[in-house]
Amino acid sequence: MRKRLMFITAGVAAAAIALAGCASGDAEPGSTDAAGGSTPAFEVAKDVTIEGSPTFDKISSAGKVRIGVKEDQPGLGYLDAATGERTGFDIQIATWIAASLGVPADKIDFTAIPSANRESALVNGDIDLYVGTYSITDKRKTQIDFAGPYFETGQGLLVAKDNTDIASEADLAGKTVCSVTGSTPLQNINDNFPDTKTVPFDTYSQCVDALHDNKVDAVTTDQAILLGYASLPDSGLKVVGKPFTTELYGVGLPKGDDALRHFVNQMFTDGGATWTKIYDATLGASGTKVGQPKVDDY
Ligand code: GLU
Repeated sequence: MRKRLMFITAGVAAAAIALAGCASGDAEPGSTDAAGGSTPAFEVAKDVTIEGSPTFDKISSAGKVRIGVKEDQPGLGYLDAATGERTGFDIQIATWIAASLGVPADKIDFTAIPSANRESALVNGDIDLYVGTYSITDKRKTQIDFAGPYFETGQGLLVAKDNTDIASEADLAGKTVCSVTGSTPLQNINDNFPDTKTVPFDTYSQCVDALHDNKVDAVTTDQAILLGYASLPDSGLKVVGKPFTTELYGVGLPKGDDALRHFVNQMFTDGGATWTKIYDATLGASGTKVGQPKVDDY
């Protein structure tokens, strides 16, 4: 296979714009970006109070919010290194949360944190919240809390376009697949596919590089993530099979901050209007339609 992820860096600007519309939170309502997508505008709330939330107290005294994200997942969480612009569904969700907390987009400190380091970043107080393809699991809930879910997807497989021997997870025996350390898809393969070899990296873009270099037969993670790589121009890649797990994305929050968790869950139960706008401008721009999952305000 031909191209390493370098081409993604060059080619993604257009793709990410096409996928994501525009990530700016302070655009005029109803404005249209260069790619013709509509731009959700988030009104920055005034005089917000959240009784009993230590995280919110920190955010309001700092006048900014620190949000952990991914930045190599087109359509979900992507940083264009050339322009500094962040795009994608998760970035928009994060920007919406910040605006609802009274924090404008230019006062968000985004930090890229890989899958394996999310819980520790929240436990150590390095970030206030995390929005980045973060599946809600009981194991993670022993260290942190989740608002949501705000998105549903499932584990899938990404292979070379000309690959004919992997059509689904039933074909993985004897194959080598790449996924990310600390992720649920890697755990699933290690636990339930004893005849499949795994190669772990820190990020999915490293896995995509390994696939392009023929070092692995497939990349496995959530289909929503894989579709972002497959739909890049000239990717030479395809997503095969049906999702074979259920992954429900939550907003990672410091454990015990129930007030903030309820606040974010309240946002997600606003009737779906904002969620739909965000989805349509990002993941839904390719024509795929899914609905917002039901919030679990435990
Ligand atoms: N949603 C899965 C997880 O949280 C895979 C994606 C990721 O690693 O962020 O582990």
